[in-house]
Amino acid sequence: MEKDKKISIIVPAYNEAESLKTLFEEIKEVLKGVIDDYEVIIINDGSNDGTQAVIEELFEKFPDHIIGIEQRRNFGKADGLKAGFEEARGEIIITMDADLQDDPKEILNFIKKLEEGYDLVSGWKQNRRDSFIKNKTSRIYNFFTCYFSGIKLHDFNCGFKAYRAEAVKNLDLYGQMHRYIPVMLGSQGYHIGEIPVNHRKRQYGKTKYGPSRFIIGFLDLLTVMVLTKYFKRPAHFFGGIGSLSSLAGFLILLYIASLRLTLGNIGGRLPLLVFGILLVMVGVQLVSLGIIGEMLVKNTNSSKEYLTKIKKIVK
Ligand code: UDP
Ligand code: MG
Repeated sequence: MEKDKKISIIVPAYNEAESLKTLFEEIKEVLKGVIDDYEVIIINDGSNDGTQAVIEELFEKFPDHIIGIEQRRNFGKADGLKAGFEEARGEIIITMDADLQDDPKEILNFIKKLEEGYDLVSGWKQNRRDSFIKNKTSRIYNFFTCYFSGIKLHDFNCGFKAYRAEAVKNLDLYGQMHRYIPVMLGSQGYHIGEIPVNHRKRQYGKTKYGPSRFIIGFLDLLTVMVLTKYFKRPAHFFGGIGSLSSLAGFLILLYIASLRLTLGNIGGRLPLLVFGILLVMVGVQLVSLGIIGEMLVKNTNSSKEYLTKIKKIVK
């Protein structure tokens, strides 16, 4: 393992005062004698339980290894991660939850896997220690995310992940989009791998996400799919559906016309006629929407965006 590489460990924390000291002790123990140059960046995401005091206490004791970021209010895990990614100075970045569910012993396995040539290595929680409902719904989400994105991961939303720094520096993260980081990076062409990780029960405090996570998660998946796959070419998305709809409508109208020409009447097929007209009209609308979308994209693309697509420039 490359000892001289700097490692940044990013820990988003919302009301995790009881867990943070133990977490840092465990991390320190794991890295001892293996990696000297590391920073643990803890982001206090608007906690109201003394998390900030614990972070500052840790900083006093271990100023070389602790960075504390305090967000002005509770913005959500994605914003916390974003702040951490931007502040991190390591070449390798690890993210892990603050609640002791992720086992720091896995950190070295992540780094080994990353060094096999991946840009992102995601954890895959073994014997998950979360509620029954959460485990089941999570399986369904993972199935669909995998199916739609074409990225082969078992556990997209695992908070325990490792990255090469350049992969996350320009990532557009907000709300609860942290769930789909692998989808975003995958669509940008980054190399994505996975390792099984040990998962532990939450020791203190409680989970920060209620049932609303399922609905928001679904809407976010739609957004991510549209942004990554079709945002750049809206005409392909709307135009595709629109053309199919128009074509189906056109065939129906052709059939109705042939009835009128051969039989002299349409044989009570008025509903079908209306349906055919509807399909053609909706189709035309969708194609136009796609073209308008295309004009918008053309006007909003930033000139620096090409940087997210480039791996290397030799000059
Ligand atoms: N978290 C955060 N901001 C929030 C919600 C959660 O920083 O608004 C942190 C939380 O402190 C923990 C991680 O995100 O470190 C995962 O949260 P949690 O353990 O509640 O999620 P679960 O494990 O139940 O999916
Ligand atoms: Mg947790």
